[in-house]
Amino acid sequence: MEKNNHYIKVKFWGIRGSYPVLNKDFLNYGGNTSCIEVIAGNHRIILDAGTGIIPLGDKIVREHISSADNLKDRKPIELTLLLSHIHQDHIQGLNFFKPANILSTKLNLFGYSGYNESLEKILSEIVYGKSFPIKLYDITSDYNINDITESEVIILKDGNNKPIVEKNMNIELVNTSENNNVYISVLKTNSHPNFGVLCFKISYKGKSIVYATDTECYVGGSKRLELFAKDTDLLIHDSQYTTEDYLSNISPKQGHGHSTFDMAMNTAQACNAKKLAMFHFDPSYSDDKLTFIENILNKKNKNYILAKEGMEICI
Ligand SMILES: [Zn+2]
Ligand SMILES: [Zn+2]
Repeated sequence: MEKNNHYIKVKFWGIRGSYPVLNKDFLNYGGNTSCIEVIAGNHRIILDAGTGIIPLGDKIVREHISSADNLKDRKPIELTLLLSHIHQDHIQGLNFFKPANILSTKLNLFGYSGYNESLEKILSEIVYGKSFPIKLYDITSDYNINDITESEVIILKDGNNKPIVEKNMNIELVNTSENNNVYISVLKTNSHPNFGVLCFKISYKGKSIVYATDTECYVGGSKRLELFAKDTDLLIHDSQYTTEDYLSNISPKQGHGHSTFDMAMNTAQACNAKKLAMFHFDPSYSDDKLTFIENILNKKNKNYILAKEGMEICI
């Protein structure tokens, strides 16, 4: 990673909602579930651990191995992993994320279980419990799992791999261009089944990106999300359905906790996002269908795009 490059680099490793798909008709947009890599300064942040985190983990391990021939001279892997919620499509890659099993890795995980128990306990049961041969305490890296709430801001300081959590900090009052810190603020939206989800805003050097997955914007939009994402450089927004499928008379998707492409675009417009990347597509939507949708949406605003696996956006 370059030092102090003063921009945020985003790479999509998983853009599907619900479950992964592997089929020749899905190769262009990709079939892995939610995972996005964000590089801000010296920090690597990962948004969600769908199956996209598996090839990302493989790449990180390759980088680690090539950093030095001698094991003890290798550059340690340092990661901040943010989990929006604990539905399967956001955690199902965690078991196979290889950096978690490298001794020198420092893994700081933040998220929210939604239940009356810690995220660590819930993950130990549903990811590393009876459904998998490895237990959470078998993981060999130096990891910590933290519950995070809306009133907290995670700060990643330059040259320090230990995140600091500040309570009741108003990120709007911080001029992020004045230092080298990365600020991660949190918004909880409640439109998703079970216990809602966490949306994340990553701010660095006066730029920001907002990650809003698994959120359903009802008529009139999500005003809290619009405020949270105001003037962001990049909004990454749930776009699971077409409006037609959302309002289908046969199998309506209203109330499933996901947005349509139109809802994502309305939110981007309302919050004045400079760029919108729609993602978390329904797993039944083939490349042909998504290309057809993208061609229509592109005519409305060329800065509103559909994410693809492997796509990189620098801001
Ligand atoms: Zn999801
Ligand atoms: Zn979900």
